[in-house]
Amino acid sequence: MIMTTITERLKSAISSIRSNENKNNRPANSVQLLAVTKTKPITDIKEAVDAGQRHFGENYVQEGVEKILHFNNQHLTWHFIGPLQSNKSKLVSQHFDWVHTVEREKIANRLNDQRPLDKPPLNVCVQVNISGEESKSGVAPRDALALAQHINSLDNLVLRGLMTIGKPSADTAQVDAQFAKMNELFGLLQNEFPTVDTLSMGMSGDIDSAIAHGSTMVRIGSAIFGQRLPKQTNNSEV
Ligand SMILES: *Cc1c(COP(=O)(O)O)cnc(C)c1O
Repeated sequence: MIMTTITERLKSAISSIRSNENKNNRPANSVQLLAVTKTKPITDIKEAVDAGQRHFGENYVQEGVEKILHFNNQHLTWHFIGPLQSNKSKLVSQHFDWVHTVEREKIANRLNDQRPLDKPPLNVCVQVNISGEESKSGVAPRDALALAQHINSLDNLVLRGLMTIGKPSADTAQVDAQFAKMNELFGLLQNEFPTVDTLSMGMSGDIDSAIAHGSTMVRIGSAIFGQRLPKQTNNSEV
């Protein structure tokens, strides 16, 4: 493996985002980088913070909360991007700034009820299952607007937009088609709700297509922090 540092890979991820914005006639800085640090140690996150990164994504509740409490830094913004079970919603609502993976009214209600009143409202995206794969989380595209409407009615949540995990495919036309559908749905949502400004879409393998199709936030992990080890099976969390 070529020995590059997190700082170098972070810079190169950002420059790839900037050049994709430019190539697709998107305004400079219209796409934000969410650095995905699941399973990665505090020292890796610290290096990214020192290099100027401010937005971090975590998938596992306990691990994410430990990191948030460790840094205890109001300049950092923490995004929950993993599957969320009801019994973990309270910890997420108490500690995170964003949740990208809301797919049920019940979870939205819990996050709303559990949000500490001394914190700003929790930023929320509706997760959409755009590929229709059965294994994927998220609402069907036709149900996204109704869930968004519900979230929008809750005082302690701010509806920010949509999130999706694209189905990886060597067929770029297929990836493009999924992301184009998301962009269309995002447009509909923006017309309905003034707070909507975020399309969380694109990962290490597909950011070019995501940015070409309107993504405003790409979630990059392995391209910055390296491959992840498989999550240990003795960890009870999903
Ligand atoms: C892990 C993860 C990412 C980052 O994936 P990479 O392929 O490592 O860039 C992005 N989004 C979600 C929801 C993830 O779980």
